[in-house]
Amino acid sequence: MGVLTLVSKDTILEIKQAVNIVDIIGEVVSLSKTGRNFLGLCPFHGEKTPSFNVNEEKQFYHCFGCGKSGDVFKFLEEYRGISFVEAVQYLGNQIGLDLTDVTPSAQRTQRQHPHQELIDLHEDARKFYHAYLMTTKMGEEARQYLYHRGLTDEIIKHFQLGLSPSEGNYFYQSSKDKFSEQVLVDSGLFTITESNHMFDAFQNRIMFPLTNDEGKVIAFSGRIWKEETSDKHVAKYKNSRGTVLFNKSYELYHLDQARPSIKKDHEVYLMEGFLDVIAAYRSGIENAVASMGTALTREHVSHLKRYTKKVILAYDGDKAGQHAIQKALEELSDLTVEIVRFPQGITEFDEELALP
Ligand code: ZN
Repeated sequence: MGVLTLVSKDTILEIKQAVNIVDIIGEVVSLSKTGRNFLGLCPFHGEKTPSFNVNEEKQFYHCFGCGKSGDVFKFLEEYRGISFVEAVQYLGNQIGLDLTDVTPSAQRTQRQHPHQELIDLHEDARKFYHAYLMTTKMGEEARQYLYHRGLTDEIIKHFQLGLSPSEGNYFYQSSKDKFSEQVLVDSGLFTITESNHMFDAFQNRIMFPLTNDEGKVIAFSGRIWKEETSDKHVAKYKNSRGTVLFNKSYELYHLDQARPSIKKDHEVYLMEGFLDVIAAYRSGIENAVASMGTALTREHVSHLKRYTKKVILAYDGDKAGQHAIQKALEELSDLTVEIVRFPQGITEFDEELALP
């Protein structure tokens, strides 16, 4: 116990010879060949003109904007926030080396996210809401509601949908001893009364988690589903407020999961809302994303541009949708844009979900 087995130089060399840094970085950054190098938008700092270079010959990356540079291991360390040993294991796995006992798991030196506790709390929330949907009596009712509207268990799983309890303050109860009060307050997942009591901010809503590029849950949107909550004063959707984790002008719903298909097809479907994305997925379109609780911004576009240069706008055909298309086109001016209109039944999904 406690002895760290070192990764041998031979192993590192073997991995370096077997993988190509252009492919590894190309999975997450859209690269185009310019002369001897590959060029893309730097994933480490926001930029509009690419200054992130990948040199295939030297198997090295360098950003002229922020100065970050290194080899394929360094890239994974920086991009995924993992340790060197984990980067070696990650790539070793890809080429069929078994490196699981290179380091005892207790020795794992996982680099902590600067807001790791907030990340953990959101992860707990995702698990809690999902389990509540999948295993409780109330959850059974909510699932029937979702099945009725064409969702399957596979879709529910893929999108990690959940249900927040209608009463009992259960999520707060399960979190209050695990996290500091400050973390609970900062998360936006609880409301605080004047007498300083905390309550679950989401009650009796179908919960849609939003993940960041590293696949970590950073926010939720909750949608009403039962008649007793169809009170006119209750908003149909309730989104997480902005936090240190969640910048709604930058994050896009489903981007993390859509990324492999975006890279494969070299294009992304940009939709108006997350239910459109789910409806598209249901019809076999896996490379769809949407902004969450806000119109498309310049930051969204620079986020998307990391992964593709072609956007297919799939907004509603109604007046509001047409207006949104005009606005989006202004932001998307330096990308290739196509506009499509889906047949009824895809973008009408939200109305299907609507209450009778
Ligand atoms: Zn940079």
